[in-house]
Amino acid sequence: MEQQKVVLADQEIPRQWYNIQADLPKPMSPPLHPGTGKPVGPGDLAPIFPMNLIEQEVSQERWIDIPGEILDKYLLWRPSPLCRARNFEKLLDAPVKIYYKYEGSSPAGSHKPNTAIPQAYYNKAFGVKRISTETGAGQWGSALSMACAMFGLECRVFMVRVSYDQKPYRRMMMNTWGAECIPSPSNRTAAGRQVLAEHPDSPGSLGIAISEAVEDAVAGGEFSRYSLGSVLNHVCMHQTIIGLEAQKQLEKIDVYPDVVIGCAGGGSNFAGISLPFVRDKIHGKSLRIIGAEPASCPTMTRGPFAYDFGDLAKMTPLLPMYTLGHDYVPAPIHAGGLRYHGMAPIISHLLRLGLLEAASYDQLETFDAGVKWARTEGIIPAPETNHAIAAVVAEARRAKEEGKERTILFNFSGHGMVDLAAYDAYLAGKLVPYQLPDEEIQRALKAIAGFPKP
Ligand SMILES: *Cc1c(COP(=O)(O)O)cnc(C)c1O
Repeated sequence: MEQQKVVLADQEIPRQWYNIQADLPKPMSPPLHPGTGKPVGPGDLAPIFPMNLIEQEVSQERWIDIPGEILDKYLLWRPSPLCRARNFEKLLDAPVKIYYKYEGSSPAGSHKPNTAIPQAYYNKAFGVKRISTETGAGQWGSALSMACAMFGLECRVFMVRVSYDQKPYRRMMMNTWGAECIPSPSNRTAAGRQVLAEHPDSPGSLGIAISEAVEDAVAGGEFSRYSLGSVLNHVCMHQTIIGLEAQKQLEKIDVYPDVVIGCAGGGSNFAGISLPFVRDKIHGKSLRIIGAEPASCPTMTRGPFAYDFGDLAKMTPLLPMYTLGHDYVPAPIHAGGLRYHGMAPIISHLLRLGLLEAASYDQLETFDAGVKWARTEGIIPAPETNHAIAAVVAEARRAKEEGKERTILFNFSGHGMVDLAAYDAYLAGKLVPYQLPDEEIQRALKAIAGFPKP
C-alpha cells in the first residue's frame, strides 16, 4: 500500500496568513483615484469596505494572525487534504509525480470560502449588517452567502443574467443559505438601468455586476458594505492558507515541488497556492510557478499591463494589472469563474518580475484533461480547475520529451458537481474552440488609452 494523501490534524492548521508585500523585491504601483490620478488612501475606500479589511489590503506585515472565530469555521473542512494523483500519473506515462491540494472539500465546493469567511467576520466585527457582491457562475455568491449566514449578516448577490438563467443550482444554494440573488443587469441600480435602457436583453457581465453591487453597497449607507471574491490583496492573502498547509504537508513526506500550478481568473486561488512558494523563490529556491488561463480570456498571456478599472461603470479605483479592458465582454465559455477582464495586481506584479509564468488553454483541451482526470482519479473537476489540469498535462508532456523527472503540485480549486451541464455540452460535442481575436486586444487598448501608466 502506498501513501495516497497527507492530512494535517486540526491542531496543525496554520495560525497566520502570509502577506507577500513584506518580501517583494520591488514595491507594487498603488491603486489610483480616477479623478485626481493620485494614489487612493484608506479614506477613499471607506464607503466600500470596512476599515479592518482596508488595513489588511495595505498592510506590509509579513504574517497576519487568523482570529480564533475564523479558525473555528475553517476547521469545518480545513486543513484540506494533499493528495497524490497516481492513477492520472499512470495514464500520462511521464516521469512526473503529481500532488494536488483538494479545495473542493469546502461546503461550497471551492476555495472561495477561505476568504468569504474572514470577509464576513471582519465586516461583522466592524458593525456592518449587509454585504452586497456580484457573482458570475455563482461560486463566489454561494460562498459568501454561506459565510454571511454563519456570522448573521444579510447578503445580496448580483448574479450575471446569463448564468442566473442557465445555472440555477448555485442560486438555489444562495437562497438556502439565506441570501437574496438578483439577476444583473437589474433595475435596482443606475448602472443596471443604464445597461438595460441600451440593451434590454443584455446577458450581463462580471464588470456590470460589480458596478451594481458597489453602487448598491454605497447606497445602503453606514451599515452596508461591498465584498469582492478575488483580485484584491487581502483576498489573495486569505487564500495563502492553501499554500501554507501544502508546504507543511509536503514537508511531512520530504517533498519539494519543481513546478507549482493554479488556474487563474481573478488570481486568488493561484495566489493562494503559490505565494508561499514565491517567498521561497525570492529567497533562492529554484522552481517554476505557472498560472493557467483560458485562451478566450487571455489576460496575462495577451493583455497589456496597465492601469484599468475593475468594473464597467468605472466605480472602482484604477488598478495596475494585466487587463483586457474594463468593457471586455468575454466569450460564453463554461469556466465562468475565469471570465474576468483583469488579473490580481499582486499576480500581475510578480509576473512582471519574472517570479511567475502564465499559459493559456483552449476550453476543449481543458475539458479533455478534466474528463481524463475524472476517469482516473474519480473527482469531476470544476471547469476552472480543468485549466490547471491541462497545464499539468502540458508539463508532463514536456518532462517526457526532455526525459527529466518533475514533481508537480497544483491547486484543485473546486469540484464540478454543480457544473455538469458543461460536461454534458462537451460530451455532446457542442463546445467550440475559442481564441481571442486580435481585434479584441486592440479594443482593450482603446478602452485604457489615456489612463496613467504604471
Ligand atoms: C472562482 C473560481 C476560480 C477562479 O477564481 P480565482 O480568483 O482566479 O481563484 C477557479 N476555480 C474555481 C473552482 C472557482 O470557483
